[in-house]
Amino acid sequence: MKASPQEIASGLDVERIRADFPILRQQAHGHPLVYLDNAATSQKPKAVIDAIVRYYERDNANIHRGVHYLSQQATEEFEAARKAVQLFLHAARPSEIIFLRGATEAINLVAQTYGRVHVGAGDEVLITAMEHHSNIVPWQMLCDEKGAKLRVAPINDHGELILEEFERLLGPRTKIVAIGHVSNALGTINPIAKIIKMAHAKNVPVLVDGAQAVPHVAVNVQELDCDFYVFSSHKLYGPTGVGILYGKQALLEAMPPYQGGGDMISSVTFEKTTYNKVPHKFEAGTPDMSGAVGLRAAIEYLNKLGMENIAAHEHELLEYATQKVSAIPGVRIVGTAKEKAGVLSFVIEGVHPHDIGTILDQEGIAIRTGHHCAQPVMERFGIDATARASFALYNTKEEVDALLRGIKKVEEVFA
Ligand code: PLP
Repeated sequence: MKASPQEIASGLDVERIRADFPILRQQAHGHPLVYLDNAATSQKPKAVIDAIVRYYERDNANIHRGVHYLSQQATEEFEAARKAVQLFLHAARPSEIIFLRGATEAINLVAQTYGRVHVGAGDEVLITAMEHHSNIVPWQMLCDEKGAKLRVAPINDHGELILEEFERLLGPRTKIVAIGHVSNALGTINPIAKIIKMAHAKNVPVLVDGAQAVPHVAVNVQELDCDFYVFSSHKLYGPTGVGILYGKQALLEAMPPYQGGGDMISSVTFEKTTYNKVPHKFEAGTPDMSGAVGLRAAIEYLNKLGMENIAAHEHELLEYATQKVSAIPGVRIVGTAKEKAGVLSFVIEGVHPHDIGTILDQEGIAIRTGHHCAQPVMERFGIDATARASFALYNTKEEVDALLRGIKKVEEVFA
């Protein structure tokens, strides 16, 4: 769909950008595809696809272990990707960047290494009521194993964290805070700088789940002073199968390894194994080299556009959509925080969200319906599911208008 002149004026030439995403050119059920399921996974620009093809056509070999030309080439590509992620997050060193499979694996790693060492019987792990299952279950598993308690900071009716309650729950037994930067179900942007300060004032380290934040806002882990930051490449216009754990060097060095295998060791005998230095200590086995190369290409693509321009464009879209959708009788937006990014969750009176999704699909509009892997959020709002439109840098106001027409159609069908 065509971008309006206003969108070009807002800093991004969305029409040109759309040409970079081959998948967006197609029709779905005879309509131009309107892809509004970006919080689940975003589409990939040609630059990312080309980088992966180039890697396999030119550079592929196993890394770190070979003396031959291609192995060195592949290792250089992989380490250049690490450097790109370091600069993207403004981390102090490349060794603080660990390549994993995704945000989920990164949270599990911290729970099973840092968590297992520091959380004991009677201790507490503090999360919030708006977490994705990936930032609940790993901590629950740890607490079950250790006899520790999972404490949950509540949210208000807008879907904002109640900071006084959060601070009250930060107690002498709190061993770690794990919090989402941006909620995937509500779109709330948490004031994580403030939250990190509160936690650090009580000597509690903080893991930030940035899966929904990195595509929308610039992140500086040194300024935030977070202890861990995680995200998935596939939500950041990069390939699937790759995710990042950022951790402060001293913490990573003190943590035991997560998985055992090749590359994470410096020597092995049957009696004793000594471990490699970070980041390799946490990268057992052959990593997803082409995935890392693709993630680097995604970061370079975003850098060219500028995260500030992307944030401004998406903010404009979200404001526009929020204003229009909330004006439709019978529609209620779930998640009305003052600070939001990318996500518009809603329900229509008397219509199951799955029916909304199915009717919109027939119009070529892809949204997500369900609990969005955040069942406690649904419970908090007394619903089973929502319909969720989530925006990316390539979406347009015309696509929001198509969504509005689709919602009206749903209402007509169920009138
Ligand atoms: N955290 C949040 C807030 C998410 O939205 C998601 C995915 O939707 C995840 C974590 C898990 O990401 P992945 O499935 O890529 O590991």
